Amino acid sequence: MIPARKPDIKSLTLAELQEVVAASGQRPFRAKQITDWLYKKRISSFDEMTDLPQTLRAQLAAEFEFSNPEVVRVLGSKDTTQKFLFRLRDGNLIESVLIPASPALYGETSDRRTICVSSQVGCAYGCKFCASGLEGWTRNLDAGEIVQQLIAVEKHSGERIDNVVFMGMGEPLANLKNLARAIQIINQPWGLEIGARHITISTSGLAPQIRELAEEPTQFRLALSLHGATDEVRSQIMPVNRKYPLKVLLEACDYYVAKKRRMLFEYILINDVNDTEEQAYELAKIARRLSAKINLIPYNTVEGLEWTRPPRARQERFQSILREHGVVSTLRREKGHDIAAACGQLRLQTKRREVEADAVARPTA
Ligand code: SAH
Ligand code: SF4
Repeated sequence: MIPARKPDIKSLTLAELQEVVAASGQRPFRAKQITDWLYKKRISSFDEMTDLPQTLRAQLAAEFEFSNPEVVRVLGSKDTTQKFLFRLRDGNLIESVLIPASPALYGETSDRRTICVSSQVGCAYGCKFCASGLEGWTRNLDAGEIVQQLIAVEKHSGERIDNVVFMGMGEPLANLKNLARAIQIINQPWGLEIGARHITISTSGLAPQIRELAEEPTQFRLALSLHGATDEVRSQIMPVNRKYPLKVLLEACDYYVAKKRRMLFEYILINDVNDTEEQAYELAKIARRLSAKINLIPYNTVEGLEWTRPPRARQERFQSILREHGVVSTLRREKGHDIAAACGQLRLQTKRREVEADAVARPTA
């Protein structure tokens, strides 16, 4: 039988660590010492927690994993987009992208550094244009594996991260429990202390979970991957739209916006698929209904898929229709196009190469 995996120490909130510490008869302040070691001093083993009693250190090591994912590849340079490929403790690959400026989120321009993190290994939602969905879903990341991406990227790049976007591999709302913990750890003063307004969750549109998020007190931001303004177009590229068609999805969004605050739309422009004038009109209607801004993203081609981005003039025409209807949008000039920066692509390339290498090494297998 395969032994059950121990939880990662970085998956616990301060309150949970306090329970662990209390259960072993230690004083409560020990929990804060642990979070200081993990998130302020950023050590990489239990042995380095030198102000904890030896017995507590040994107990933590027995109960928890201290994972330090291996950096398999880094692409890009310090002043451009950098892409990190990590191997997790069970061999799975995930990726994070460090973007040296805010990707025009909410129309802000700044010199901030944004990290795009993964929330799952693979993705079950199989959007037709996306590299992450191509090979299906493998597993959820635990909170520690989400948080560790920030720690490892800061360490490796020497940069301080100001913004976090859940736009890497996976559907964050399909891993809501671990996502909520990770956000606490990223946001709280005892953790990585990144302001909630600098944390953006992106979803393909899981209507029930959008309603659940509306009840969350933390003021993070929510981006909805719309990519189609009618059921016909959206269902063609996003199978999730059959489960939660626009009527159901937009009602959940109404609820969210009424309860909480603004929502941002992402809209990838794919040539001859969702970039028509009719789609722009329909999109403008939806945006007005929800008072949402739109982030237009020219499609990043994925090896093996036939989709392409529209010519720049067509992208601009689409944006001008939105503008004529009083809707604010940004048209992103995609960063990192050349280093496969769109979600899931680097992992896919590496996996394919490994499979090929394996096939060469074991020709009879
Ligand atoms: N699963 C979530 C978050 C991860 S994807 C979601 O779908 O929102 C993050 C964003 O990248 C989504 O808007 C997604 O549609 C977009 N994306 C995926 N593949 C892309 C590509 N090849 N080019 C541009 N954007 C892409
Ligand atoms: Fe999954 Fe998002 Fe990619 Fe769709 S776009 S397959 S939901 S990661």
